[in-house]
Amino acid sequence: MEPTIEAYNQLVEKLLALSVAYYDNDAPLVSDFEYDRMNNELKRMEAEHPEWIRPDSPTQHVGGHVSEAFAPVEHPVPLESLQDVFSFEEVAAFVDKMDASLDAPHDYVTEPKIDGLSVAVEYRNGVLYQGATRGNGAVGEDVTENLRTVRSLPKKLKNAPTRIIVRGEVYMSHETFQTINAQRELEGLPLLANPRNAAAGSLRQQDPAVCAQRTLDIICFNIQLAEGVTYQNHYETLEAMAAMGFPVVAHTLCRTPKECTDAIAAIGEGREGYPFDIDGAVVKLNSLSQRQALGSTAKYPRWAVAYKYPPEKKPSRVVDILIQVGRTGVLTPKAVIEPIRLAGTTVTNATLHNQDFIENLGVNVGDTVLVQKAGEIIPEVLEVVKKQSDGVFRFPETCPACGAPVVRDEDGAAIRCTGAECPAQRLRNIVHFASKDAMDIDGLGPAVVEALDKAGLIKTPAELYYLEPQSVAAVERMGKKSAENLMNNLEQSKTRGLARLLCAFGIRQVGSKAAKVLARHYASLDELMQATEEQLTAIEDVGPVTARYIAEWFASEQSQHQIGLLRQAGVSFESREEIADDRFAGKTFVLTGALERFTRSEAEQIIERFGGKASGSVSKKTSYVLAGANPGSKLTKAEALGIPIITEDDFAKLIEE
Ligand code: NAD
Repeated sequence: MEPTIEAYNQLVEKLLALSVAYYDNDAPLVSDFEYDRMNNELKRMEAEHPEWIRPDSPTQHVGGHVSEAFAPVEHPVPLESLQDVFSFEEVAAFVDKMDASLDAPHDYVTEPKIDGLSVAVEYRNGVLYQGATRGNGAVGEDVTENLRTVRSLPKKLKNAPTRIIVRGEVYMSHETFQTINAQRELEGLPLLANPRNAAAGSLRQQDPAVCAQRTLDIICFNIQLAEGVTYQNHYETLEAMAAMGFPVVAHTLCRTPKECTDAIAAIGEGREGYPFDIDGAVVKLNSLSQRQALGSTAKYPRWAVAYKYPPEKKPSRVVDILIQVGRTGVLTPKAVIEPIRLAGTTVTNATLHNQDFIENLGVNVGDTVLVQKAGEIIPEVLEVVKKQSDGVFRFPETCPACGAPVVRDEDGAAIRCTGAECPAQRLRNIVHFASKDAMDIDGLGPAVVEALDKAGLIKTPAELYYLEPQSVAAVERMGKKSAENLMNNLEQSKTRGLARLLCAFGIRQVGSKAAKVLARHYASLDELMQATEEQLTAIEDVGPVTARYIAEWFASEQSQHQIGLLRQAGVSFESREEIADDRFAGKTFVLTGALERFTRSEAEQIIERFGGKASGSVSKKTSYVLAGANPGSKLTKAEALGIPIITEDDFAKLIEE
């Protein structure tokens, strides 16, 4: 179909919005593959209709803006982007074009394209002076202090020119990315999307200390400027950078299109061996004077292309379907497949995402499926190419790790284990139990929990109260003093009271706020356990779904086992909310008429818990009359005496936080 100018404008707007999310907010909304697909579509439209091209089209300028949070740094030599190509034919065409437009003999350098964040770093007299992001290519953001924390960036150079600016790619290694995300998962923080955005987000932190914790690295691939030194070709500059102490990108000298594509294929095959993500390979003209002669477009140099590896797809047979339970309790199915070689790695399993995905595919053990691996993304099953089994894989109804029933999230496709003692979730459950909003056990952060777990001392939260001081002291990096402190803190935490304990249980939708609301309604855990789902739903702020989660949690065997252990250890089950909150001190309430949300005795208990009094008759001393339906003479008397009359809703508001 012929494209219209409206469709063109829409696509420009869409790509601009995606670029803001990617470059400025470090939080992509679509995959790079999807972005590139749309960008190519835009290029096609612009090739057919050059008269439509808008100056703000993403094809006309380097993506990214300069945030006002950083001082601007002008780049003496612009930081350009690269022209993408997607096939070996295009690489060969590029080389042929170079050959045709240049007289002198020439060669190329092929390098992996590191998927990180581009920076320019300046050194004066061999000392790190300033560093900036690419920004819009002409002006970047001053991130010098953050760059000082990049561990592989040299702070001093060997035998450097008086002034030199190098360009490199800051990245987060796979190992660091996984460690940080495992930690964030334990702490219940949102996960970093991918190493590229994690690196960009970290380098653009306001606080260098936060950036330092993220352990970033750099690989350098260009000399932008070197005062007083003349280099003949790119290869030579890479060798010079290495001699000055920079970590330099791997590079292969190539003379023919075939040598270039062979080098690209070799990089692709070996990509799993790099500690960072690569999103392509770059072929660059080697001679610097020839580069000068060719120059650049508004966005990229004419003397280089970036080849983007396509996602690879191959068929394989499903030999098993396993269910993994994540640290947050989500059950994820994965297909075990007959080994195939994909995107430079041997793939033996592929994700099936969730139950809905399995049902939509209609897949079962024995079927032949199409598996895809795009870059660093986990291999995934795309479709069934040959149905060789009967029926569709059935998701288990109990957790394969602990046997507790599983439930589907109210708002999504995720299926979750409900076991309070599930071994797959134990680290996260214990970290949560000890966290600030819950039992607030000082000295029991994720690292210590992991150490105690590794030593085999705890399997569930309640077991914390059964730790022996001498075994804690024997744990790696613990020592006698910190073990003693931990034991004291654990002892103190026993009296935190019902609200914190409820929050610590990690019942779905019961965070610290809901836990407080519950602890205001019930004097003890035992009282709460008697409550029916209906009674729970009657409480302001507790919806039917939360009420169900609470009831289900208490009905579970594993939860009851935890409660038994906590009780035996002497952990207080009493609500302390009334002690902390005496908002009704000195106030007398009189109840009249039929109440809907509370029984009379419940309302009276609440009043008393908040330090107030409930009385049977109205007098001048009455503070409020709480009137339900069909009130009697008490209301008339209150009106005569001018006593404030409140409804159930008013009362509910008074007892809210
Ligand atoms: P680019 O990232 O494709 O290429 C240019 C960059 O490559 C340079 O900034 C440079 O720092 C880097 N690079 C890494 N190794 C290199 C080497 N050896 N030699 C030279 N340069 C090297 O170009 P771009 O214009 O910054 O961004 C386009 C990319 O960003 C595409 O991959 C696109 O998919 C992605 N993107 C994604 C979204 C999204 O929403 N997912 C949005 C915008 C852009």
